[in-house]
Amino acid sequence: MNILLVGAGFSGAVIGRELAEAGHSVKVVDSRPHVAGNCFTERDSETNVMSHIYGPHIFHTDDKEVWEYVNKYSPFKPYVNRVKTTTQSRVYSLPINLHTINQFFGKAMRPDEAREFIESKADVSIDDPKTFEEQALRFVGGELYEAFFKGYTQKQWGCHPSELPASILKRLPVRFNYNDNYFFHRYQGMPEHGYTKIVESILDHKNIKVSLNTSFTKSEVPEFDHVFYSGALDGYFDYELGRLGYRTLDFERFTCTGDYQGCAVMNYGEESVPYTRISEHKHFSPWEEHKESVCYREYSRACGENDIPYYPIRLVEEKELLVKYVELAEMVDGVTFVGRLGTYRYLDMDVTIREALDTAREFLVCTQKGKQM
Ligand code: FAD
Ligand code: UDP
Repeated sequence: MNILLVGAGFSGAVIGRELAEAGHSVKVVDSRPHVAGNCFTERDSETNVMSHIYGPHIFHTDDKEVWEYVNKYSPFKPYVNRVKTTTQSRVYSLPINLHTINQFFGKAMRPDEAREFIESKADVSIDDPKTFEEQALRFVGGELYEAFFKGYTQKQWGCHPSELPASILKRLPVRFNYNDNYFFHRYQGMPEHGYTKIVESILDHKNIKVSLNTSFTKSEVPEFDHVFYSGALDGYFDYELGRLGYRTLDFERFTCTGDYQGCAVMNYGEESVPYTRISEHKHFSPWEEHKESVCYREYSRACGENDIPYYPIRLVEEKELLVKYVELAEMVDGVTFVGRLGTYRYLDMDVTIREALDTAREFLVCTQKGKQM
């Protein structure tokens, strides 16, 4: 079969590879001049530091098959994401852990004492927290909320935390020990040669042809037996029902000699600092030595028509519009909508790869049985 993959990010590359290995002829197009989508990394031209051009990416997963899959295409180095935050003129460790709590309140509590102390700060009158703000007040109390979450979240999402769902904050743990690993997952690491190398290796197959700087047009669909589309869902329909809301990011690059901040990611909890965080990319490759350093200040704002969509907003209005677009998508024959943009969801890389593997396998089973997907 002749298959078209729109997008050379992890979604397109993984589906393409699975189908190519099954003997199908695969064409992958991407409008950008490079593969790897938002996970694109390249060496900074001035400092030679491996840089995450669309924002910091740390690989973490509990999915053994996905972990083995990425390691097969390029080696990983151990890496633990330890994030710091600056607020009220001090530096603390994230996610909120025993060190953060003891430093913030100037105490030397043991785990059980800290748990009891934080419970005394929590607003227990909130029975069933629905909003981000309620979730924070219920579980960490007003002081930690004001210092670590309120300003950051306002900057990140462009609205008050009382307008956001509690689920956003539930992504972050509160720990009553000194574990400052940002993630829970069993496998965590950083690709030794960057993410672009992994995607290039996945796409390196005799049945795959990649065309960069190539935008997909719907008129191409009939030329292929099937299309997997990892571009924007609303974009496929020329935004005919309106635009699904996204936040975009602006990155302000700067370089320095030596070590700018001593860690890979420093968040800024207060609204008075206009950026959400600064990432210093040489710390993502601690096994390399660099005298020079490249950093990015990260600013979040509403996504305009010509901006790169990063975070789907998914509030009530967007979810209603999404339902309508999904209905339209279900009526399109011969096209499967995949990936973070094609399904309008925030997806970590491991989930993206898992879904791509499952989608490809389902397609292969369907084609063997002579069914349409
Ligand atoms: P993308 O990577 O967006 O790829 C889609 C591709 O399709 C793009 O290259 C685009 O150019 C192309 N395209 C779109 N429309 C068209 C068209 N019409 N014609 C041709 N090409 C088109 N995940 C983690 O696991 N860990 C992290 O630490 C992490 N950090 C993140 C930080 C930020 C700031 C963001 C926004 C995301 C982060 N992610 C992280 C998530 C990660 O970026 C995604 O899981 C991954 O990019 C999804 O891959 P994808 O192929 O679905 O989409
Ligand atoms: N958050 C915050 N302060 C921080 C880090 C995170 O208020 O220092 C909030 C913010 O609203 C963010 C959410 O917690 O969207 C989830 O954090 P995560 O690190 O998962 O952020 P994201 O993936 O959204 O960048």
